[in-house]
Amino acid sequence: MTGTGRGTGTGRGTESTLRVGLVYPELLGTYGDRGNALVLVERARWRGFDAELVEVAAGDPIPDSLDVYLFGGGEDDPQTMAASGMRASANAVRRAIDGGAVVLAVCAGFQLIGTGYVDAGGEVIEGIGLVDARTVAGAPRLIGEVIVEPEPSTGLPTITGFENHGGRTKLGPGVRPLGRVTRGGGNGIGAVDGALAPNIVATYLHGPVLPRNPALADLLLTWVTGGPLEPLPSVLEEALRAERLAEARLTGWRARARDLRLERG
Ligand code: GLN
Repeated sequence: MTGTGRGTGTGRGTESTLRVGLVYPELLGTYGDRGNALVLVERARWRGFDAELVEVAAGDPIPDSLDVYLFGGGEDDPQTMAASGMRASANAVRRAIDGGAVVLAVCAGFQLIGTGYVDAGGEVIEGIGLVDARTVAGAPRLIGEVIVEPEPSTGLPTITGFENHGGRTKLGPGVRPLGRVTRGGGNGIGAVDGALAPNIVATYLHGPVLPRNPALADLLLTWVTGGPLEPLPSVLEEALRAERLAEARLTGWRARARDLRLERG
C-alpha cells in the first residue's frame, strides 16, 4: 500500500493506507461508539491521508495489520461474548501495538483491555491485560455527563463525555489515568477516568468521545502517523463541546442545589 499522507512523521499512516479497525461493532458499540471510527477516518482524510474503516466482525480473529484498534462499550452479555474473541487475538493486538498501532478502548472495551471484569454475579471475565486495570461491578450505576481534566502530559484540553456503567476500575500501581474527573464518575475510584499507556487511551466516556473531543482524536492520529498534523477548522466541534460542558456543569450545580435543600430540610 502506497500512501498519500502529508504527515511529516515516520509513522505508519505516512507509508500506507491508515486502517482504522472497529472491533466487534455488533457487540461493542453502545451509545454510538462507531462514531469514533468515523471521526478518525475523516480527520485523517481531511489531511490527505488514505484512510479506511475496517470492521472486524464479532468473533472473527483480530488481525495484527490494523493501525488503530477501537474497542467500544457494551453491556455485560455482549461484553462476555466479545471477551473470548479478544483473548484469542490478544497476541495479534500486542504485536500491532509494538509495531506502532494505537488503541482507543471505551467502557466495556476499557474493562476488557484491562486484566478483567467481575460482574454483579461474581463471574470473572478475563481481559487481555494491555493495561493493569481491574474492574468490579458496583452500585449505583454511574450515568450522566462527565468532565475530565486530562493528564497535563497529554496536552489535551478538557474532555467531555457521557457515561453509563456499573463497573468500578482500579488502576494498578504506576498506571496513569486519562485524567481527573471533575463531574461524573469515571473509573469510580480515585476521581479519575480511564488509563494511559504507550499508544493506548482507555476511558469510560461515550458521547461518542472523539466527535466531542477532536483533540483526543488528533492525539491518536499523531501517535499513529508520527505527526505533527495540520490543524483543522473545528467551529461545529467547539460549539458541541461548549454545549456539552455547560450541560455537565449545570447538572453538577443542580445536584448541589438539591443536596443543599435536603440538608436544610
Ligand atoms: N458492562 C459494563 C459496566 O456496566 C460496561 C458498560 C458499558 O460499556 N456501557 O460496567
